[in-house]
Amino acid sequence: MIRYPLYIFDLDGTLYRGDEAIPNAVDTVKALEASGSQIRYLTNNSGHTREFFRDKLRRMGFPAEAEEVESSARGTAKYLLANGLKTIFVIGEPGLVETLRLFGLSVVNADGEGVVSPDGLDSEAVVVGICRQFTYELMRSAMERIRTGQLFVATNADSTYPMEGGRLIPGAGSIIAGIRTCSETEPFVVGKPNPYLVSLIVQEAGLSPAEVLVVGDRADTDLASGEAAGCPTHLVLSGVTQTPSEGQSFSADLSGLL
Ligand SMILES: [Mg+2]
Repeated sequence: MIRYPLYIFDLDGTLYRGDEAIPNAVDTVKALEASGSQIRYLTNNSGHTREFFRDKLRRMGFPAEAEEVESSARGTAKYLLANGLKTIFVIGEPGLVETLRLFGLSVVNADGEGVVSPDGLDSEAVVVGICRQFTYELMRSAMERIRTGQLFVATNADSTYPMEGGRLIPGAGSIIAGIRTCSETEPFVVGKPNPYLVSLIVQEAGLSPAEVLVVGDRADTDLASGEAAGCPTHLVLSGVTQTPSEGQSFSADLSGLL
């Protein structure tokens, strides 16, 4: 297969399942890097810092650097800064709060550990992601702020989140749906299938979309975001989507890229 200057890899179902690398994934990433291609690891998960994902990938043998990891949390921070918004009300995990703070944003409703509460000072925008401490009071506070006209930003709209053994837990999209209902406002969604994160990576690398291959296991999120950004895409059958659409480049696992 032809080599691209840059590869964007989805994580879950593409590089690993749970804590196990998918067969041929580590060797393929290493071979692509050895031949001079750049790698980016892209996840919709907003709940952790890029160092968390780097460490998880390294434990499985991937040659990951923190600078190669992009997430919906980081994309959210960049989107807020690009819109001149600095004081943020957050519904999310400590990893999201920490990521926003690393970009110099002020989170008005979190303590030193990054744990969010319904109370807080005035904000300019409301950010919502996966939040296992979600409460009615957090929803009420977000609603009030959005109804005064504050920008409503969602990290990602995944309805569920996969856990070990095929178990599912409610994803960020479930919480966002509640806040969308009571605020009667549509959020800007940073994560896939929106092309925002892919376009950001392409721009920051100084490449054109045609030079970047987007690789994932879900047609409706990974490949959709790549296509919308103007990039070629490749499906691996090691995760969610099992039937490639007509004309779609695909393989059983990542070794199909070599
Ligand atoms: Mg996936």
